[in-house]
Amino acid sequence: MADRSRIHLEVEGLVQGVGFRPTVHRLTTQLGLSGFIRNTPQGAELELEGPPAQVAQFVPLLQQQAPVLARIRRVSTVSIPPTGETGFHILPSVGQDTPDTQVSPDVGICEDCLREMRDPTDRRYRHPFLNCTNCGPRFTIIQSVPYDRESTAMGAFPMCKDCQREYTDITNRRYHAQPTCCPNCGPTLTYLDGAGHGVDGDPIQLAQAQLRAGGIVAVKGLGGFHLACLPEHASLLRQRKEREGKPLALMCADVDAARTLCRLSPEEEAVLTSWRRPIVLLRKRDPAPDGLSHTPELGLMLPYTPLHYLLMEGFPALVMTSANPSDCPVFKDNQAAVEGLQGIADGFLLHNRDIVTRCDDSLVRVFRGKEYPLRRSRGYVPQPVEVSCHVQGLLACGAEQKAGFALGKGRDALLSQHMGDLKNMETLEHYQQQLHHFRTLFGVEVTGVACDLHPDYLSTQVAHQLARDLDVPLTQVQHHHAHMLSCMADNGLTGPCIGLIWDGTGLGSDGTIWGAECLAGDAKWFRRLGSISPIRLPGGDACARDPARIAHSLRFEAGLEADSQDLLTLQLRAGLNCPPASSMGRLFDGVYALLGGISPIHYEGESAIRLEHLAQAGVTQALPLELETVDEVCRLNVPALTIALLERQNQGQSPHLLAAQFMNAMVELAVQQCQFARAHTGLDRVVLSGGVFQNMYLLPRILDALNAQGLRAYHHSRVSTNDEGIALGQLMAAAGR
Ligand code: ZN
Ligand code: ZN
Ligand code: FE
Repeated sequence: MADRSRIHLEVEGLVQGVGFRPTVHRLTTQLGLSGFIRNTPQGAELELEGPPAQVAQFVPLLQQQAPVLARIRRVSTVSIPPTGETGFHILPSVGQDTPDTQVSPDVGICEDCLREMRDPTDRRYRHPFLNCTNCGPRFTIIQSVPYDRESTAMGAFPMCKDCQREYTDITNRRYHAQPTCCPNCGPTLTYLDGAGHGVDGDPIQLAQAQLRAGGIVAVKGLGGFHLACLPEHASLLRQRKEREGKPLALMCADVDAARTLCRLSPEEEAVLTSWRRPIVLLRKRDPAPDGLSHTPELGLMLPYTPLHYLLMEGFPALVMTSANPSDCPVFKDNQAAVEGLQGIADGFLLHNRDIVTRCDDSLVRVFRGKEYPLRRSRGYVPQPVEVSCHVQGLLACGAEQKAGFALGKGRDALLSQHMGDLKNMETLEHYQQQLHHFRTLFGVEVTGVACDLHPDYLSTQVAHQLARDLDVPLTQVQHHHAHMLSCMADNGLTGPCIGLIWDGTGLGSDGTIWGAECLAGDAKWFRRLGSISPIRLPGGDACARDPARIAHSLRFEAGLEADSQDLLTLQLRAGLNCPPASSMGRLFDGVYALLGGISPIHYEGESAIRLEHLAQAGVTQALPLELETVDEVCRLNVPALTIALLERQNQGQSPHLLAAQFMNAMVELAVQQCQFARAHTGLDRVVLSGGVFQNMYLLPRILDALNAQGLRAYHHSRVSTNDEGIALGQLMAAAGR
């Protein structure tokens, strides 16, 4: 058979449940090849036979025409003797006891499905659950791998004959679409009134009527429940949810509706309309819609399920906010939502497909043409973040307030979805469930655990317990070192770098609280080269919610409360529960309060956000900086800064001007400390990480100022700059040891 050749191919990557086999089938038909394909733990295995010229065309064509969701990591090809096989066969999967394939994130509804949903002649006309190989639920409905209908929440809905026919027809775009269904066989909707009683009628129309009447409707979505209402009734939602201050996201009917509310760059539009469908933070137009956000920005997203599209008909925009009891994970089960949202929701739009895994909406902004994640969750998770070294078997437990873990598999870091604050028992439970779910879903045997240095973080305690139970080594990673390694991994940097890590608080390696750190190091080591003089926090953690306490402490340290007899002064003088913290986040809080900001604040991080938007545009002056070198660390003298700020305030300079001057001074501080670090280490790459770099006044200015000094500055683009990104850094530290 000299006129024929046969090849054996191994394809690694995300190729299951993404329409890969139909693509292969189409190509083999087109090229006239025979052979077979089967799923393997790593991806897929193929053998192809035919005329040598045709066989040779296969791999290049496959690379070009791979389905949107497929991620082909590696194709290895070996020539083997032809067998004379005819026809193309799809064989059963092999090696199912060692699941090793990737799981796709949930995918927003595709154009083809949307068209069918709107076509009165289609059998899926107005079907709220239609999907295909290119779109639909994945991560949130998958119980285990291999990815088959029976191992998803769709297992409870046997396919009808028509769906079965499409499912088994390789030329159909629903070929092996595991969650495919139609009105005859799929999940169904119900509508309950506020008391939880069923209401007869079209559930979507009932929900829409309630919304139009000004009510609040709880809507079961993909990864959890939302509370929806008209934008003009946002204050009612806030009042019932007791959620004052915090911005609310809107779901817009389409891009045009989004454009009437916000300005969109082409890059922002691309992210907004991408299949990941995150909430995108965008600049509001004037006049800004009231009561949704106290900043010049607004979070917008587009509908991502057919149900959303049906619900949105007739509404340009609806408030869509996660329905969760305060600080608890989002509701995912019908009964819990109906009970838990009594007095909040006026109606419930429910369905009978279970949410296996909760996953909140992701939140991103677009910075310099790239995504800058603030909450990496639905649509992104569990897509791995590829790293530069082997991390197989390592588990990093993350931080605490913005908890999230990372599981290593090969060279992939599998980052968990958004979790919230672990101090809450329900959140901790969710976190532990997901730890277990990820380990089994991805078939990873944990061989090492990493966590923060802080002994009180519940994630640290979980890590200790796991390391003990599994009898594997535990690596404790200093918080800011982990931030730094996270940004390095995000940018694929391995060698030593300078890290400018500004955040709220984290335990330092000297046992004090850090948070304004200029470090140098790599996965194996770091040293501290820059910081700020410690700020004493009367009442400790209470300061995070009450920045006026920090303002008082700043004034006290600057010698301005010498004669005062009030309680905070007495507390500071006696040094009772006033832990010192070299925290940039707390400095921002304190300065914000000195400028007359509100206190207490309504939500974590509010003062920093308000200070950012307080700043007047176009200000070039900066507050003067006084730097001192203490124990070889270049430190900002905070009392001197406070005195300079208050002097200018006394001269009548406005809070807007002073906010800008303060942040300009921080830009200058970044430059001076990084120059100091370069002089001491010879390093010239700087990674920026930590929650403070969510500040969009600071970030571009610091990047530009560092680059202008011949330093090379990097920021995050794949994982969050806040504590959510910490787990990735911990993973890298564990891999480096
Ligand atoms: Zn589709
Ligand atoms: Zn059907
Ligand atoms: Fe942090």
